[in-house]
Amino acid sequence: MTDPTPPAATDFIRDIIDEDLRTVRHAGRVATRFPPEPNGYIHIGHAKSVCLNFGLARQYGGTCNLRLDDTDPAGESMEFVESIIRDVRWLGFDWEDRLFYASDYFEKLFAFAVELIKKGDAYVCSLSPDEIREHRGSFTEPGRESPYRSRSVEENLDLFERMRAGEFADGAHVLRAKIDMAAPNIVMRDPILYRIKREPHYRTGAQWIIYPMYDFAHCLSDALEGITHSICTLEFENNRPLYDWIVERLIAANRPKQIEFARLSVSYTVLSKRRLIQLVQEGHVRGWDDPRMPTVSGMRRRGFSPEAIRSFCAEIGVAKNDNLVDMALLEHCVRDDLNERAPRAMCVLRPLKVVIDNYPEGQTEEFDCANHPQRPEMGTRKVPFSRVLYIEREDFMEEPPRKYNRLGPGREVRLRNAYVIKFASLVKDEKTGEVTELHCSYDPATRNAPPADGRKVQGVIHWVSAAHAVSAEVRLYDRLFTIEDPGSEEDFLQYLNPQSLEILPVCYAEPGLQNAEPGSAYQFERVGYFCADEKESQPGRPVFNRVVPLRDSWTKIAGKG
Ligand code: ATP
Ligand code: MG
Repeated sequence: MTDPTPPAATDFIRDIIDEDLRTVRHAGRVATRFPPEPNGYIHIGHAKSVCLNFGLARQYGGTCNLRLDDTDPAGESMEFVESIIRDVRWLGFDWEDRLFYASDYFEKLFAFAVELIKKGDAYVCSLSPDEIREHRGSFTEPGRESPYRSRSVEENLDLFERMRAGEFADGAHVLRAKIDMAAPNIVMRDPILYRIKREPHYRTGAQWIIYPMYDFAHCLSDALEGITHSICTLEFENNRPLYDWIVERLIAANRPKQIEFARLSVSYTVLSKRRLIQLVQEGHVRGWDDPRMPTVSGMRRRGFSPEAIRSFCAEIGVAKNDNLVDMALLEHCVRDDLNERAPRAMCVLRPLKVVIDNYPEGQTEEFDCANHPQRPEMGTRKVPFSRVLYIEREDFMEEPPRKYNRLGPGREVRLRNAYVIKFASLVKDEKTGEVTELHCSYDPATRNAPPADGRKVQGVIHWVSAAHAVSAEVRLYDRLFTIEDPGSEEDFLQYLNPQSLEILPVCYAEPGLQNAEPGSAYQFERVGYFCADEKESQPGRPVFNRVVPLRDSWTKIAGKG
């Protein structure tokens, strides 16, 4: 696999690994994993974690597992598993034969729980969920011990087996670690390890009535897989002593080193799964792969490449402080990548008809146009020219201001790759007053040459020959939210950008785009970067998504905040 992404600069995680290798901790191995819960599609924040974990394995000649952390049946599904597998692979990473599921460890995890009971380190507690909460105490007050804390090992084993066998109602009992109800770290106050939950699991079906809590399953799954560096986001810092406590008692030899880094947040979008699920379920977007979504599937459909996403992740690096990364940085990486590799083409988004009065009727000629101005190896294409053309409506103004470098009464412009034309007259809709057609003349001596008399023209505009044009639908995307940090607002939906999608049903593209390969990207000259929609673009009827505008020129929308 080729990896054009520059190696990430060093950071505190790499410093830790370097030190571990120097002291031959974990026998000099580096084993990481990416452990998503399959309860949603992965997003740009997950991509950061993917690039980090797989990137470390690649850099240090180690391994990185893909593990579905599927211990909570609620909301998990095979659809999500499949999307995660597709998306991680598309990002450019490979786990070889190391695809794991935490649910495959359920039997082992149960045996571990039994072992803890036998050691006197866990007990069955029969307080109600509310009572457990009340006993937990707070940051300022210690917790109180459960009256069931002193149950005998025999009684605990018996009750735990019967929990598994389905003898009790949901919530009647839980298995708790026996640690310390006065611990300053609330996580250590006899945390719950197992609960009764009658909910079918997408892989194990109705086989289990009790499910391990994430905190119990996650650290043991890492240890079972021989993970050396268990990298996670900062919110798990307080859980680290619990993970160490559990693993110390059960598979001490395999204790991974947990390293926390700051979760990625990106401006003008949300990355919490709960909120992304809400956007999809309530129909605020057209599914998980809507090109406005920060999901990997959405970004792929929008036209972002894996290279661009990887270079963004390398650019932001890893740190210990949470921060909000500007969406413009991601867009910058996307633009840089497309500028290099996207072939150029002409497409008119809001067409205005132009008749070249002195060009012979029925005549067509072809211009050789470079596919990339700086990359001759990308070749040329032939673009037809004829008497009737379309230009961009905004490239003509009846009363242009002085600095307007385009067409207007008395003005001349160059048609990109073709001739200089001069305005002659216009036709208006009688009722609306809208300009419906322009008449111009062309200067035959300017075929790809400057005017012989040295006169200056106003500018260069793009065009498409009407007789040869391909009708295309173009979808213009803008940011999904109008404020920088919608994730921090409880009522975040209030800040949805009502103009995040504008559909232009009739655009005219040059004929070469007729059968644009779904997923292929272009620079529409002067307009932006576009990508043929991977789902809805069809031969003869292309549909293009705007990936990013040419420059960082997103329409500024007045936020309510
Ligand atoms: P939730 O939003 O419900 O907390 P999650 O996004 O943490 O869910 P997981 O499936 O648990 O979802 O995440 C898998 C891995 O991706 C974890 O190791 C997590 O630390 C990492 N991860 C998730 N979100 C981000 C983020 N925004 N930035 C960096 N890493 C992330
Ligand atoms: Mg999480």
